[in-house]
Amino acid sequence: MAEETIHYRIRPIRPEAHLFEVTLTIAEPAPEGQVISMAAWIPGSYMIRDFAKNIVTLSASRGGSPIAVEKLDKQTWQLAAGEGPVAVRYEVYCWDLSVRSAHLDPTHGYFNGTSLFFKVHGQEKRPCSVDIEPPEGPAYASWRVATTLPTDGTRPYGFGRYRAADYDELVDHPVEMGSFELIEFEVGGKPHAMALTGRHQADTARLATDLKKICDYQVGLFGEFPADRYLFLTMVVGDGYGGLEHRSSSSLICKRDALPRAGLAEPDEGYRDFLGLCSHEYFHTWNVKRIRPKAFQNPDLSRECHTRLLWAFEGITSYYDELALVRAGVISPESYLELLGQMITRVLRVPGRHRQTLAESSFDAWTKLYKQDENGPNAIVSYYTKGALTALALDLTIRRQTEDRRSLDDVMRALWSDYGSRDRGIGEQEYESVVEAATGVSLGAFFDQALRGTDDLPLADLLATVGIGFHLRTATSDSDKGGKPAANGAERPDFGVRLAPDSAEARIQFAFDGRPAMRSGLSAGDVLVAVDGIKVARDTFDKRLSRYRAGETVEVHAFRRDELMRFEVTLETPPEDTCYLTLEAAEGETLRRRQHWLGGA
Ligand code: ZN
Repeated sequence: MAEETIHYRIRPIRPEAHLFEVTLTIAEPAPEGQVISMAAWIPGSYMIRDFAKNIVTLSASRGGSPIAVEKLDKQTWQLAAGEGPVAVRYEVYCWDLSVRSAHLDPTHGYFNGTSLFFKVHGQEKRPCSVDIEPPEGPAYASWRVATTLPTDGTRPYGFGRYRAADYDELVDHPVEMGSFELIEFEVGGKPHAMALTGRHQADTARLATDLKKICDYQVGLFGEFPADRYLFLTMVVGDGYGGLEHRSSSSLICKRDALPRAGLAEPDEGYRDFLGLCSHEYFHTWNVKRIRPKAFQNPDLSRECHTRLLWAFEGITSYYDELALVRAGVISPESYLELLGQMITRVLRVPGRHRQTLAESSFDAWTKLYKQDENGPNAIVSYYTKGALTALALDLTIRRQTEDRRSLDDVMRALWSDYGSRDRGIGEQEYESVVEAATGVSLGAFFDQALRGTDDLPLADLLATVGIGFHLRTATSDSDKGGKPAANGAERPDFGVRLAPDSAEARIQFAFDGRPAMRSGLSAGDVLVAVDGIKVARDTFDKRLSRYRAGETVEVHAFRRDELMRFEVTLETPPEDTCYLTLEAAEGETLRRRQHWLGGA
């Protein structure tokens, strides 16, 4: 139980007030005045979050006597000059139920290191130790700790001492404490587990079986699992969704209804989404946590850290997360094609794909994708969704050009062996040549179009090479996500808006650029109250619209701020922006290629 020169003690002192107390002891502080700082962002979530804002009180002492602390900027403090160990005691307010920060109440505690641990400047590379203590009182007797932080004499899942080789490692292991349920399984001889917090009635045996298949597939793809163990930390809630990757664990938030119920046959939509999320975060164990851009090696957590390569780390991961489900045999090929059709639909519905390139979307993640406003769909494209379609197009292009001898799998394995497994960062200009070298395919024109251009990718042609039919149709309703042939929904002319889903009023969330509503003068935020003198609300707007045909002009009344306004909207033929894919009759080469693609052979 050696105490390192940097030591933290974590105590959930007042769960009801959402307060963790942290005591940081620095054995050898800089004599001229030690500087300490909190992170502004957490790796994997590219937005400035200023975690220091949650520090409620802070004081420091040396040898038991208080010393002065000067705040230098929003997240940096300097301790008074002097010799000898110092202790910094601070309280942090933790009431953000997300995978990105920290949450504490009498039901459980959860934190990311970036929310609780100060960085000790000049000593970032030193090992540190952490004592994690339970809240006081008999109500917390059943609480345990789930984290992949290395233990230091502490029993598995116990409170006590943990350690980390340096600050970077310290903040890359989220910690859950409470009375969670554990699901355990083994992958490639390494222990894997999921800790489930929150009430649920899931078929946990089914969950373990499916997770193991997905993890086994991914370990097989890369050839090795790069950590000693793995832990999924899952928070079960009524409504919510999110995930964040770490080097040997991930934090997930899922809907209670998404967990499998006993007797479930083929995964339903919610469970399929949850397995996709688990698959996504697990894939990041290689792709982004270890295969990573140079910009993410020793990232500066005090400010934005830009790369034009996020499409490769989030897009390729978003492609493989669903592909892994079908290759692992957890979902059927038809179910996979439905997911892919929905992904294509999401991209086709966004006019911003013709404005922003994938490289730009990656670079500007901090201020655009993560800070989307009502103009988002008109101005930007997601490096997740278009990145995933780029990965699909890249995979199918490589397969076509090499007559199925190479694929994106070979690219991932080359990235792993040459970069990830050796902890070599990839340069911004280097990525494309690595793909070419791994496949022998000249891809200059492909990357120019996919990453630096805004034209749609030739997906219909590429999917035909693996015997998949590509079909477009119009949307039947606001909730039509695509992926399936049209339901018998009413035909409706195009109005060109998306209504806010969380409002009973017909409030415009997005007005799509160049379409009827915007051309008439309507804007995002306007509340539609009547069409041709008949009242409309969120639920009745579509039905009202279906009474009209393209080419007709309707009178629309709407409130902007508190002023009633009148608009004349000429309805149009709706765009064919909804995609579904079909397994076509195939034989010979085409059939073999499809089997390799969906089977992963
Ligand atoms: Zn991701």
